[in-house]
Amino acid sequence: MPLKEINHPAIDIDLRYATANNLTGSPIYHHAVALLHQDALAALVHAAELAAAQGFRLCVFDAYRPSAAQWRLWKALPDPKFVADPRMGSMHTRGVAVDLTLCSADGVPLDMGTEFDEMTAQSRHARCDIAPQAQRNRCLLLGIMTGAGWDHHPHEWWHYNLPEPTRYPKLGDQMEGALLMDACVPEQAL
Ligand SMILES: [Zn+2]
Repeated sequence: MPLKEINHPAIDIDLRYATANNLTGSPIYHHAVALLHQDALAALVHAAELAAAQGFRLCVFDAYRPSAAQWRLWKALPDPKFVADPRMGSMHTRGVAVDLTLCSADGVPLDMGTEFDEMTAQSRHARCDIAPQAQRNRCLLLGIMTGAGWDHHPHEWWHYNLPEPTRYPKLGDQMEGALLMDACVPEQAL
């Protein structure tokens, strides 16, 4: 089984799609279990160790995402700049992408200039129109994640994935863990 649960003392889990606090306004996951491909998990642990060595923690918003959940997000926001078209497959459905932020040692999220999943131009990397401290915080996360082997997403400061993600297969919705709520599965995913 390639998927492993994220469980590390320097990583907090705040799975937004298991709550109503996400862009659809309602829960998508039935269980708040964060899973990653074992290769991605090893790279995330490396990043967590780099963060901890500098007095920070990682806070994960999303990891492996079943394809039916991708359909739900796509229906809520059908913009390929921010949400992968489920017909093409998301890097999250391959278990090799993670959405996250940096927190202080006592778990307070750092200011990144915009919120997670805020679909605006200010969420892009290398913006000059966000506060300098937020820009420094983004650069800190970028340095930690790329140093641990992750690639960034130009439109989303919170998204990182392993290089060449298509070498990993899309994983089925029957994977254990972040199972979908039955009522949330749209017809297109069946
Ligand atoms: Zn993402």
